[in-house]
Amino acid sequence: MDITDMAQRIIAGERRALARAITLVESARADHRAQATELLAALGQDKQALRIGLSGTPGVGKSTFIESFGLMLTGQGLRVAVLAVDPSSSRSGGSILGDKTRMDVLSRDPNAFIRPSPSQTHLGGVARRTREAIALCEAAGFDVVLIETVGVGQSETVVAQMSDLFLLLLAPAGGDELQGVKRGIMEMADVIVVNKADGDLKATALRTQADYSGALRLLRKRPQDPEGYPRAMSVSALEERGLPEVWEALQTLSDWRRENGFWDQTRAQQARYWFEEGVKSVLLAQLETPAARQALAALSDAVAAGEQEPAAAAVAFVRDLRA
Ligand code: GDP
Repeated sequence: MDITDMAQRIIAGERRALARAITLVESARADHRAQATELLAALGQDKQALRIGLSGTPGVGKSTFIESFGLMLTGQGLRVAVLAVDPSSSRSGGSILGDKTRMDVLSRDPNAFIRPSPSQTHLGGVARRTREAIALCEAAGFDVVLIETVGVGQSETVVAQMSDLFLLLLAPAGGDELQGVKRGIMEMADVIVVNKADGDLKATALRTQADYSGALRLLRKRPQDPEGYPRAMSVSALEERGLPEVWEALQTLSDWRRENGFWDQTRAQQARYWFEEGVKSVLLAQLETPAARQALAALSDAVAAGEQEPAAAAVAFVRDLRA
């Protein structure tokens, strides 16, 4: 594979080259890893897209929203990439986000590029691949990269750590269910979007929006926010209502952060975060060799039999691992 040629094709906007490059970064093979590293270095990091993380539980309307929102953006001449972080895709074999029939109008739009989540046992593996896919999409000149995830477990944190803006999509619900959204996730959101504000659900949606507006006002003010953020809004993804307002709110926020230094600061903090995660995963990979596994099993048995003390055995294990 000619990496220089591939880099040129990606920069020239060739979708097939981008798709092949994403397949390359998704591969765990050592030679592919080396090529991926070379490719990412060749592409550099000069071009920046607006990275928007989007989370919500299954059924809340993520794909409907992304389709409508994405088409609105491509309609304005913007190029939009959609990537997914789906922790379920490896566990159940059935991906929540990878379904080919989703977003079928957007997927046929020449200004859009949609890529389902790579299958991988560890969320950490999906995270690295997705970050590299984001870098490829930026090099390919996309203006907006939407990173979608399901509202389960750790995946929001992972997506928030690779996004400039984080959007939480919610369904209209009674006041009690406000408690259902974990505080930590609410604190990550820059904009909470209550979807399905149409028909019979409209009144409930507006009430839910008001409830969340109130709840957001009670949160500690974050330095990276101007007045009025984080904020709650309501939309109908199905009827394509409220979407320009969401886009405007996101742009206002990102402009403010750029002007006040928080954009660069956040990206720098994220680079540190992923560096530290990388160190951890390299160290953890050292446990995966046959020799390490054998030593670990032997010490584990010794600890269980009361022959060795757990903490001392751990120190001895790590020392021998290095030797
Ligand atoms: P996802 O699982 O979060 O990707 O949700 P989908 O986009 O697949 O939507 C789940 C269901 O909600 C589908 O039946 C959609 O038609 C419906 N839905 C999505 N957006 C809206 C909306 O704005 N209004 C209404 N009434 N239904 C919606």
